[in-house]
Amino acid sequence: MTYLTCTSSILLVLAVVGAAGGAADKPNSGITRKGFGKTADERTIDLYTLTNSHGMRVAITNYGGIIVSIVVADRNGKPGDVVLGFDNLEGYLSKEPYFGALIGRYGNRIGNARFKLDGAEYKLPANDGPNSLHGGLRGFDKRVWTAREIHGEHPALELTYLSKDGEEGYPGNLSAKVVYSLTEDNALRIDYTATTDKDTVLNLTNHSYFNLAGEGNGDILKHEIMINADRFTPIDSTLIPTGELRKVENTPFDFRRPALIGTRVDANDEQIKFGKGYDHNYVLSRSGAGLSLAARVTDSESGRVLEVRTTQPGLQFYTGNFLDGSIHGKGGKPYGRRSAFCLETQHFPDSPNKPSFPSTVLKPGETYRESTVFRFSTSK
Ligand code: BGC
Repeated sequence: MTYLTCTSSILLVLAVVGAAGGAADKPNSGITRKGFGKTADERTIDLYTLTNSHGMRVAITNYGGIIVSIVVADRNGKPGDVVLGFDNLEGYLSKEPYFGALIGRYGNRIGNARFKLDGAEYKLPANDGPNSLHGGLRGFDKRVWTAREIHGEHPALELTYLSKDGEEGYPGNLSAKVVYSLTEDNALRIDYTATTDKDTVLNLTNHSYFNLAGEGNGDILKHEIMINADRFTPIDSTLIPTGELRKVENTPFDFRRPALIGTRVDANDEQIKFGKGYDHNYVLSRSGAGLSLAARVTDSESGRVLEVRTTQPGLQFYTGNFLDGSIHGKGGKPYGRRSAFCLETQHFPDSPNKPSFPSTVLKPGETYRESTVFRFSTSK
């Protein structure tokens, strides 16, 4: 072999190895599917993982449309899972507080578990003291959704569910569709649509429990939050809004300027006492229709930043006050008090009984449409 041929062969080998290495470093964006377990009635449940080319991964199951994991890099490029949950379906079949789930038909509470619509009274299961919470005894979080992979510009998962007339006490056959898409700017977008064949009420949301330091990694009290709201809806001792829209100014609820979650979470304040911390709906300061910035959360340790944009009028800020370490999640880690925060974009709680709140009525011929985007980035 001449010197020249030998050198070119080495260069060729290096080029091939280099190209293969490059491809391995840059994850392929797309969707994969694997088994996640079986329900008590032997229905097979899947886990779908959406990946973008930066390596962000979101795993979603068609059981309850639950977001099982969101893996995203910290400021040093180290990946971490930023949502609470379980390693397998079994965990989600046990009694647990809606980790990552799709909530319907009515996210949040309906007072005294009843409402009137078109002159008729509808009675709902009371599963939270006297009130009905998150769709009743078997809400959308405990239903098997039909999944369809969408291999378009961005990997996406479409989930559909037909909720029959009278299910959990709500009127009308309701066709619900939720599309989760993962975009290249590290955003998880959720598009909700629904139609009905009878007048009904509807309030869909997602109940992810975030910890930007990584799930199971302590509490979220040192996370800094900004909530784009001048007012919130104060509650009574059963967490039902009184109907008032109260200014956040001079209250522990003022997050118009970023502040640490922990600074006032135990303030000597009646509203904080009712919620045992933050468990309140904010009236978002919207800039017109469409997606509008609702909140931004920063964890200075990991550098992760979460921005929430939504078309919805409200945002429930819940600081995991009822978590007490008794639930062991992924890898057996105990999830202690305030080890996560929820930002549930929504219509206001108890709207069906509060004519002054934005309406949650859906009528035949109309299409319910709401969207929320959870975008992750890092700060210096
Ligand atoms: C509610 C909390 C409740 C949690 C889990 C939140 O949306 O506001 O009061 O404990 O969901 O059910």
